[in-house]
Amino acid sequence: MSESLLKPNERVLSTLNDDGSRRWIRPRLSPGKFLNWRRAVAYFLIATYSLLPFIPINGKPAMLLDIRTREFTFFGKTFLPTDTLLFGLFMIMVFFTIFLVTALFGRVWCGWMCPQTVYMEFLYRPIERLFIGGPGRKKPKNIGLRRVLMYIAYFAISLHLAQTFLSYFVGASTVNDWIFGSPFNHPVAFLIVAVTTGLMMFDFAFFREQVCCVVCPYARMQGALTDQDSLIVTYDQSRGEPRGKKRRKPTQDADSSDVSLPVLGDCIDCTMCVQTCPTGIDIRMGPQLECIGCAQCIDACNTIMDKIGRPRGLIRYSSENAVRGNVRHLIRPRILVYPAILLLVFAGFLYVLSTKGTSEVWIGREAGLPFYTLPSGEITNQLRTRITNRSEEPTEYTLSITDPAGVHVGDGYGILTVEPGKEGSQKFPIVADPQVFTSGQIEITINISDGQEFSKDMVFEMKGPKYREPTITPEESNSDG
Ligand code: SF4
Ligand code: SF4
Repeated sequence: MSESLLKPNERVLSTLNDDGSRRWIRPRLSPGKFLNWRRAVAYFLIATYSLLPFIPINGKPAMLLDIRTREFTFFGKTFLPTDTLLFGLFMIMVFFTIFLVTALFGRVWCGWMCPQTVYMEFLYRPIERLFIGGPGRKKPKNIGLRRVLMYIAYFAISLHLAQTFLSYFVGASTVNDWIFGSPFNHPVAFLIVAVTTGLMMFDFAFFREQVCCVVCPYARMQGALTDQDSLIVTYDQSRGEPRGKKRRKPTQDADSSDVSLPVLGDCIDCTMCVQTCPTGIDIRMGPQLECIGCAQCIDACNTIMDKIGRPRGLIRYSSENAVRGNVRHLIRPRILVYPAILLLVFAGFLYVLSTKGTSEVWIGREAGLPFYTLPSGEITNQLRTRITNRSEEPTEYTLSITDPAGVHVGDGYGILTVEPGKEGSQKFPIVADPQVFTSGQIEITINISDGQEFSKDMVFEMKGPKYREPTITPEESNSDG
């Protein structure tokens, strides 16, 4: 470290050396009950994340976030671009569920379910340990060749991850075409796959835990989302301190031979909890933003406690209040407010969903003059309709004027076929005799129907020239006589 640089009094970031260089974290694997559970959850999630874009529900992928067409499909239900309110309510529910789960269980998402942790700790790191060994183990021979093989394996998995990731946004079959088709046929698609694969490689081979420590916004919100009663991974200071290696056994009394040794807490300062931490922190320093709640330090410390004959749980899932011996409050304002809001929003979501028909219709005036006079003398207005077909079948819609009599849709117009989940648009003229426009405009009722369950009347103002009854002068009247 350059002498001109001021040395920090304490570590600024667990992944940063004093001189500002990257501190590479290579965590030890600590077998234990939590690791076994997390491994089972991780394998299940890897299968789920990989299969979701391929599993069909109601003929659609289980999850498809089609940004291009602004259609979002979740488990067979598609939110169309016109479903802004529904989608907004859905997202509010997602956020409040996250708030509630975090208030109750802290960062359980980060340590157990987040794709970053799941793929990093249960796919990339095991591959790393397989090829170049883990910390505390003898370095294998042919380390150079092994590194090359490791990166080839990383690349294959990153390609698969890129395919999975993109499948959520453009559909699995499209990504397959991109990957297995010639890059010359679709160079842009090829570039998208290549860049996404490169980003996956960058993340899991290089950037790694930095995502949790410095990038992820969810980590930054922990201070606001959790409280002193949320479940977190904590170190029991009252039991562990003062820490130290040389100690008097807890059962030894003052008459014992090694009374010169101090009576210490249960922490023997073996640093196994630090060495196993995937974000490189020391949980004994208290709750920290970098802690993803993965419980690796719990497994590591429990193994040590078993070895030295002390009870497990020096590091454990608990709350700040519980570990300090304060009363733990299960029922707190946020635990009541979040579900109440969730319930309200869910009721609103169900209401909006149930009141939405199978179709949505919009009718408006085309640009240009408000009315034209046809060669026949009739008056016409040019209108446009946009119809969203929310059903699962192609649907033929008929437009007709039901009121007043004598006004009709122009010949050859009035029928529009719309594909399922799509929006169709058509220009159509409406025609009326000039005599009806005694006040320059009339109210008409346009009916749109799919011939089955959907039928909607829309009131529209048709414009025309103000009609005046021809007046007969006395001269004209006499000449007629
Ligand atoms: S693993 Fe347990 S005993 Fe070892 S340093 Fe950590 S807290 Fe102390
Ligand atoms: S402190 Fe423990 S729970 Fe937190 S990230 Fe490190 S190992 Fe995981």
